[in-house]
Amino acid sequence: MTARIIDGKKIAAEIREGLKAKVSGLSEKDRPGLAVVLVGDDPASAVYVRQKEKACQEIGVKSFMHRLPQDAPQGEILALIDRLNRSDEVHGILVQLPLPGGIETRDVITAISPEKDVDGFHPVNIGSLWSGEDAVEPCTPKGIMTLIDSTEAEIKGLEAVVIGRSNIVGKPVAAMLLRRHCTVTICHSRTKDLAKVACRGDILIAAIGRPNFVTGDMIKPGAIVIDVGINRAGGKLTGDVDFEAAARKASFITPVPGGVGPMTIATLMQNTLKLAGI
Ligand code: NAD
Repeated sequence: MTARIIDGKKIAAEIREGLKAKVSGLSEKDRPGLAVVLVGDDPASAVYVRQKEKACQEIGVKSFMHRLPQDAPQGEILALIDRLNRSDEVHGILVQLPLPGGIETRDVITAISPEKDVDGFHPVNIGSLWSGEDAVEPCTPKGIMTLIDSTEAEIKGLEAVVIGRSNIVGKPVAAMLLRRHCTVTICHSRTKDLAKVACRGDILIAAIGRPNFVTGDMIKPGAIVIDVGINRAGGKLTGDVDFEAAARKASFITPVPGGVGPMTIATLMQNTLKLAGI
């Protein structure tokens, strides 16, 4: 079998086009607004924030950029979030992570109003996601679900194996698969005989951060393989999956780059419009 490639770049572009069309008919006053808070000078964070600003511009979302110095006191960050919570122009608030040392990430995220928590990281939204209620869904996992749905597979009842249990990818995507009636197994660094467990996955999601960790023998024939990993080696981006070997066994597979990556920002824009009621 040779897998069909799930083209995340194309799917993300289509989503952005759809959102742009929705916003283009709105008056200036009714346009959705996204506030982005960047604390400190982490170069990777600065790149991500610029990409988000660019997506806002493209779609017509008002972006409110707040850059704070590396040594900004926590009180200043919380005061800013309080102002943004009360602003009528701001529908989504995003605090770029990681925050500098000395800042309590949990306190900052919890200060965001759950109704404006565009990243879906607030404990209220996490709880709603797990209890099957309406929730703001975290962007990367929601983007992964869109990619899986693009295959048009009926996923109800399938075995889904998620490798990685982070709060931003592994756990929320497991919750979403469970909501969609998959039988979900979450693997992590202490899982015994991981290859054997991975082989059960009709859907296999790799969110580890280790290049080529998932080898061909871990793939069930016909599986849908989603590679979330972003690893930089020798100026080249690679995922967590040995793409060539996996593609020989899977029915669908995402490439890196061009798979999950572009979906994160497209989904952030979807969430912003949703929070604005558009
Ligand atoms: P993380 O470091 O928070 O979590 C990694 C997980 O992998 C942990 O739960 C750990 O238990 C598991 N793990 C580590 N070593 C393992 C091993 N030997 N066997 C089994 N499990 C092991 O990472 P994260 O934030 O979830 O990100 C994972 C990857 O996805 C990274 O490469 C990251 O860059 C990428 N990522 C991509 C996007 C995107 O938009 N495409 C978004 C978020 C993260």
